Amino acid sequence: MKISLSNFSIDLNEEKLFSVAESIHQFIFISRNHFSEIYYASPTYEKIFDADPESLKNEPKSWMNFIHPEDKERITKAIETNFGRKIYDLDFKIVRKDGIQRWILARFIEVERNRENKENYTIGIFEDVTERKKQQKLIDYLGHYDYLTGLPNRILFNKKLKQEIENIENENSKIAILVIDLDNFKDVNDSLGHQIGDELLQVISQDISFTLTKEKSLARLGGDEFILFYKNPKTKNEIIAFALEILNVFVNPFFIRVHELYTSASIGISIYPDDGNDITTLVKNAELAMYFSKSQGKNYFKFFEPNMSEAIQEKLLIELFLRTAIEKNELSLQYQPQINMEDNSLVGAEALLRWNNSQLGSVSPAKFIPIAEENGMIFPIGEWILTEVCAQIKKWQKLDFQAPRISVNISVKQLEQGNLFNFVKKLIQETEIQASNLELEITESIIMHKTNHNIEILDGLKSCGIQLSVDDFGTGYSSLKYLTRLPIHKLKIDQSFVREIGKDTNEETVIISIIALAKSLGFSVIAEGVETLEHKSFLLKHGCPIAQGYLFSKSLSPEVFFNTYNKLIID
Ligand code: C2E
Ligand code: MG
Ligand code: MG
Repeated sequence: MKISLSNFSIDLNEEKLFSVAESIHQFIFISRNHFSEIYYASPTYEKIFDADPESLKNEPKSWMNFIHPEDKERITKAIETNFGRKIYDLDFKIVRKDGIQRWILARFIEVERNRENKENYTIGIFEDVTERKKQQKLIDYLGHYDYLTGLPNRILFNKKLKQEIENIENENSKIAILVIDLDNFKDVNDSLGHQIGDELLQVISQDISFTLTKEKSLARLGGDEFILFYKNPKTKNEIIAFALEILNVFVNPFFIRVHELYTSASIGISIYPDDGNDITTLVKNAELAMYFSKSQGKNYFKFFEPNMSEAIQEKLLIELFLRTAIEKNELSLQYQPQINMEDNSLVGAEALLRWNNSQLGSVSPAKFIPIAEENGMIFPIGEWILTEVCAQIKKWQKLDFQAPRISVNISVKQLEQGNLFNFVKKLIQETEIQASNLELEITESIIMHKTNHNIEILDGLKSCGIQLSVDDFGTGYSSLKYLTRLPIHKLKIDQSFVREIGKDTNEETVIISIIALAKSLGFSVIAEGVETLEHKSFLLKHGCPIAQGYLFSKSLSPEVFFNTYNKLIID
């Protein structure tokens, strides 16, 4: 057999050619004059098409009957238009006689044989690429979807959002981008294991999916972070309503196997085109807003604002410098006197943390404590504070200054970590101070959080003789039922109430009620933020003689505190 392919001419023994064709897994055929006659068809036709190769001899185009209806028109046209080309590839699906679908990659080679009578031959080489296609599909799937939740991943989300931005119909249309990040999800993973964490993520992704309408598209960015866009919201209120709907998913506990899990989410929102024209900026700004929302107390949403990036920048710097604050000796404690207003005697002092950093200057504890709580720095810092306070009490005692009881603010994280009790007990033993010299201030929210566990720890501390007070009382949501179970000694009326004394507001009534409540439950009571004589006389009149505030003194360095109050006592 002599085949000329362009300028090349090869002589092949027909038998040899066919035996090669029969030893490979591709199906090969040679047709004459554009499929009008089949010159040769290899037996692999049977394997791939589930049909007899002999049938092609009778009906040379019968292989086309197996082409999947979706591909038929495209392939028939392609064969027509490619006629005359030396070589071309087509891929299509077939439906075999037994109904099974296969993917075929076909290469067609046009060869001219016998120039004299202008005979044309087409060699077809068909390969079954079904397995390869399946793998490709899986790779495509994994490249575009999240394996855990089945939601689109960041790549597919970006593609979809890009398309939406390109398709936007009129210039007033907007797209809201919402980044949703679970609060304290790490705790679930750490305490119950990744398996439970994964199942929780699956349930949450389903529950969020239920809130979606066709204008919204959800994806998982990874970890405990989800993202979605909301096309054409008509007003900002519609976006707010939707954000609240998502937060509502977290109101009830999730039941994962035997566990009843409470979690919440923080949401950041950016809007196209107001907050950015490209996807990177829009997602970055929504994430910034989410971080902002988290830093402001979690479980809520925040719209992006341009100055957020500065605030987050500041937060990152605080985080960075706080890590070395202890070793660089940047932390110090000040002591604010607590006074019995009836005789102006000193009854105690609150230790207040100060941080002075060479780059940031003096940073308020109200700013850096929440960050330290978030990144775990609160543990070494909290231990440093307690160590310092106990050492200070000991130092004053050695100087014959019978220092009053010092109260130390304790963060919820420290209490929940579990070793606070042992740490404090050991410190008291080591410094040989009296447990009653120490008071721990716990905010109201601690009490409502994981109540039973926290009550056990507080019980232990109380049984050692340590005093316990509830800081910022009245700002949380203590239920009376829990309050009666709490092993505490003192309620500290929050300064936001004291500030309103004399202003004819409801706060005065709240103060009177807290004093009555403390009395009836057998707790003592102290007011903080006492700044004026009016505050003082109101509190005295209603039975709260113990107070702390600028009227008496700001917080003082240990030296000034010692010099002021030691002398007073000697006098
Ligand atoms: P807090 O425990 O409620 O402390 C009272 C805050 O009110 C202190 O602010 C104090 O300086 C301020 N203050 C006292 N008297 C007055 C007054 O008459 N008027 C006004 N306007 N303010 C007054 P500071 O020191 O900035 O502390 C803020 C918060 O930071 C504290 O609130 C506490 O929650 C936290 N914090 C401070 N030190 C520590 C600490 O050592 N450990 C922990 N975990 N948190 C701390
Ligand atoms: Mg306090
Ligand atoms: Mg307070």
